[in-house]
Amino acid sequence: MAGSLHLRGGSVVTMDAQRRVVTSDVLIVDGVITAVGDAPVPEGVESIDVSGHVVLPGFIQGHVHLGQSLLRGLSEGRELMDWLRERIWPLEAGHTHDSAYWSAMLGAADCIRSGTTTIQEIGLVTHMDALFEGIRDSGLRAIAGKCLMDTGLGVSDVLIEPPDAAEAAFRDQHARWHGYEGRIESSLCPRFILSCSTALWERTVALASEFDLPVHTHLLEHPREEDEVREVLGESQMGYLDRLGVLDTDLRIAHGVQLNDEHLEILAGRTLSVCHCPSANLKLGSGIAHLGFLGQAQGVRVGIGTDGAPCNNDMDILEEIRLAALLQGVRQKPGAFSAEAALALATCDGAAAIGKADSLGSVEVGKQGDVVVLDLERPGSFGPCSSVYDRIVYGAARDAVRHVAVAGTPLLRDGALTTIDEAQTMARAGEEVRALVERVL
Ligand SMILES: [Zn+2]
Repeated sequence: MAGSLHLRGGSVVTMDAQRRVVTSDVLIVDGVITAVGDAPVPEGVESIDVSGHVVLPGFIQGHVHLGQSLLRGLSEGRELMDWLRERIWPLEAGHTHDSAYWSAMLGAADCIRSGTTTIQEIGLVTHMDALFEGIRDSGLRAIAGKCLMDTGLGVSDVLIEPPDAAEAAFRDQHARWHGYEGRIESSLCPRFILSCSTALWERTVALASEFDLPVHTHLLEHPREEDEVREVLGESQMGYLDRLGVLDTDLRIAHGVQLNDEHLEILAGRTLSVCHCPSANLKLGSGIAHLGFLGQAQGVRVGIGTDGAPCNNDMDILEEIRLAALLQGVRQKPGAFSAEAALALATCDGAAAIGKADSLGSVEVGKQGDVVVLDLERPGSFGPCSSVYDRIVYGAARDAVRHVAVAGTPLLRDGALTTIDEAQTMARAGEEVRALVERVL
């Protein structure tokens, strides 16, 4: 999969520690950035003229559900728990291998078209192999694992998988997918507190330790969750996870909207990655995370993601970055959260939040050749006298994305997907979602 690529003459927004912006070539050889500047281009390496365009590190989405891409528009007008119980869980339980695969391909196309190169995927309980196959075929870089669930009010029987069976499936998938082409890694993905028994959390912690893998879950999303957890378990969410050792793992949570000082006191001295998902938080009525508070919290790293198609309703990371910046004008005050900080959520900070600060998140020699090229010379993002960060964050929409590459291999070239047959994917996804709705609703 590792490829070689030469990008000629672009304005490179490096997102490195000095936030350098330079007009320069970028050379990627065998998947790795080997030069940001003049360098001899090896024979046979594709060279693309990107002069007048902006070159950025590929965008990182810290929390997505490719398995939900078929479910767009099928659970409207509900808050989190009703949204899950009435529609999302029954529909996920109705997946077949084919419906899960075409859901993954549809979601991957959506992600790539907005400049995404890496996803952290929280998976499906059943047919997880189909998602891995979709990730493989799309060319995306991913950290992914099967979703773990074994209890909970309103959870479909199909999704109740006891710890022994879950562990066996995890071990099998880890053996086959972890390390695939150097771009797929596995992780432990317990869905959230209310759908996992204490035994399943304990198993998760043991497996994370045995394989040295991160734990990716949903936490502190909607205010109603805390009440339900206290009712069912008689203790707080953070207290419960602390007692089970989950806070001692490399823990990555989606949302964290409700995170407060008390939670941070419990976290004390440990690290936590929070994936901000503003569209989903607005749509399901969960609230608006305070990125100033999270950004300054000791041990907390913050990234961003689009979550899934039924709570967003798309996987456009550029729109998510824009929304993150805009909302902080209300949640904090105008100017408190800059466009540069918003862009960092999907690049350098997003890389740190998935444990990849050393290899992803900036355009620098030695980093992986994951890049996106934007054309800002259009009415909505025009601004020769403006900051490039403001132009990207507030003005760049999906149609500005010209090229996307992972490890030097183009996934989008001149606005056209290279690894995914879009017409076929739309047609197959359409067939699969009609059949899924017929089976379940
Ligand atoms: Zn989610």
